[in-house]
Amino acid sequence: MREEISAGGVVVFGNTILLLKKYNGDWVLPKGKVELDESFEQTAIREVYEEASVKVDVIEYLDKIHYTYKNNWEDNNVINKTVYWFLMQAKSMDAIPLKDEGFIDAKFTHIDRCVDLAKYNDEKKIIEKAIKKYNKISKD
Ligand code: ATP
Repeated sequence: MREEISAGGVVVFGNTILLLKKYNGDWVLPKGKVELDESFEQTAIREVYEEASVKVDVIEYLDKIHYTYKNNWEDNNVINKTVYWFLMQAKSMDAIPLKDEGFIDAKFTHIDRCVDLAKYNDEKKIIEKAIKKYNKISKD
């Protein structure tokens, strides 16, 4: 069993959230692996920029999720993964998908559609949490 730690962002712009479409049609949130000497927050900012060319300000930490998967490049070794998520605000709505990472689209999607579109249940929950927090902050 190997441990893997990543960080990513729920990136808000107005009433939209940034989703990335993978080559297989799955819609996911931007995230990536934490590098040496990097904070989770720095990773999340870097990955959003690398995967979608979107510059952000971090609003706050949201939560972490856990899942396991089998890596067929490593003899089906089980990977125990943790992903740390941050609520972020985009500086603009321009987004470009990073083709080299297998992303074919990057879109700010209306909050009413994001939860349905997102592929993974744990990402759906993070999006719901982000929307609640963002609405609360906007009201205060
Ligand atoms: P990273 O973006 O952190 O560099 P990666 O692209 O190397 O990660 P993952 O996105 O973690 O890898 O995908 C590895 C496996 O885990 C795939 O089979 C994918 O379908 C599955 N997976 C990805 N995200 C989730 C999730 N939120 N919940 C459950 N399984 C997931």
